[in-house]
Amino acid sequence: MQKEKLRLLVIGAHPDDCDILAGGTAVKYARNGHVVKFLSATNGDTGHYEKGGGQLSLIRAEEAANAAKTAGIEYEVLDIHNNGIEVNIQTRERMISLIREFKPDIVFTHRPYDYHPDHRATSMLVQDSSYALIIPNVCPLTPTLKRMPVIMYLSDAFKKPYEFVPDVVVDIDDTFEDKVRMLDCHKSQVYEWLPWVDSELDEVPAGDKERIKWLGERQLKRDGRTAERFRKQLIQKYGAKRAGTIKAAEAFELCEYGREPGENELLKLFP
Ligand SMILES: [Zn+2]
Repeated sequence: MQKEKLRLLVIGAHPDDCDILAGGTAVKYARNGHVVKFLSATNGDTGHYEKGGGQLSLIRAEEAANAAKTAGIEYEVLDIHNNGIEVNIQTRERMISLIREFKPDIVFTHRPYDYHPDHRATSMLVQDSSYALIIPNVCPLTPTLKRMPVIMYLSDAFKKPYEFVPDVVVDIDDTFEDKVRMLDCHKSQVYEWLPWVDSELDEVPAGDKERIKWLGERQLKRDGRTAERFRKQLIQKYGAKRAGTIKAAEAFELCEYGREPGENELLKLFP
């Protein structure tokens, strides 16, 4: 991976998407001295079965700030309602300004074929912002980017209209524990809302130690599935010996609307 300081901007729809889908990779970048920012396009104020509204958005902003501190990254949460983000010119211009201000080398976001309307809208907003990043007459008061960033999609398991095809798969075994510590900060989600959605609330252990262990096992299943699903790509990148031992991975696919790096440059851009 290159020594030049990179700037990475991960744009998720909710304050925990970035952590779940790119937390291990983000910690690798941060450890190598690169600058990482997570941006949540909504404030997450509907993500609970008991709490909601302003109270919940404050809880989630604090959880995001704690996760950022744990990982040594920045985290910004936009004050847009959960289940309420729309693809319109006003929000697109906000996205263009936010991306320009951070000056990223790589932007990560959801694919536009995702189950959640906020994920789809966030993806559309980033995609629709891409060309305008270099157009001076769009958002003229925020300087344009000198170079178009590479744009990558975060992984998902949806198959229609087409399946996620990774261009980069990252071994996150050495940052997996840090990723779990980040997720542990999103307490209203990982120990309350997400298990409630999965009808597993009664499986969440009571003690702090026990529940972070439970969370780690749960996340390892998920990131283990990614490693298993893209074992072939892991072997290509790391060789058969190391790739065979990798337990947890994160995967990313190139979006055609960003800068198109060659294979060599892509390798250098990722840990
Ligand atoms: Zn989400």
